[in-house]
Amino acid sequence: MHKIIAANWKMYKDRTEAATTAGEIAAALPDVLPKERQVVIFPPVTSIECVAQAFRGHKSLAVGAQNFYPAPEGAFTGEVSVGMLRDVGAEWVLAGHSERRHIFGETDEMVARKAIFSLSHGLKTMLCIGETLDEREQGNLYAVLERQLTAFFAARPEGMTGDALVGRLAIAYEPVWAIGTGKVAGPGEVREAHGVTKALLEKFIGKTGKKLPVLYGGSVKPDNAGALIALDNVDGLLVGGASLEAQSFLQIIGA
Ligand code: PEP
Repeated sequence: MHKIIAANWKMYKDRTEAATTAGEIAAALPDVLPKERQVVIFPPVTSIECVAQAFRGHKSLAVGAQNFYPAPEGAFTGEVSVGMLRDVGAEWVLAGHSERRHIFGETDEMVARKAIFSLSHGLKTMLCIGETLDEREQGNLYAVLERQLTAFFAARPEGMTGDALVGRLAIAYEPVWAIGTGKVAGPGEVREAHGVTKALLEKFIGKTGKKLPVLYGGSVKPDNAGALIALDNVDGLLVGGASLEAQSFLQIIGA
């Protein structure tokens, strides 16, 4: 399975800044990219097209959107559709990022609906899950991950088999307490949470579950990326703050 190194640029960078950083990444990539790694950047929606242009011709580079509304079109003021995102070059979307859940109130059910919609309409989907500090301290890691994944797997339409998800769905385990806080989860904590996630995937879709990549996200930096990506059940990284500078993200890609 290819390891995926993904960048969430959140609400940073105008088009000029995004094109510059994407161009630097594309230019340096052949020197730093270990074999069998895929890089995905999630810029703000206004910069998807220029990042896609900068990545044209690079098979290992792809661009995605941080958000969308799960309807083909309609009276949804302020929203964008997956068709519009594909039109500007997006191949991926994020669903269920903790900032969408906690700042914008997206429920497990809404996240599941969005992920199923994007998968059904031709976009690869990175489904983010993870517990808050409170939930972890109360011993609820398993229950939270199970609840979030159950919402998705229970809502799948009949034709969306496990096999149909391979190569299209990635899970990002992002403990909420580690996102943007500088507190990275320790190797033991990451291994445990990824073990739980992989066991749950197997519970829902059997052995095929082993073929879905599980990424870690939460304060990944150039100095901890190598140790995290080396863990045997970590299939990639989702990077926020440290992906904004090309040099720092390139170090993470090559870690
Ligand atoms: C994120 O936004 O998904 C993230 C992991 O952010 P950071 O790396 O800044 O913690």
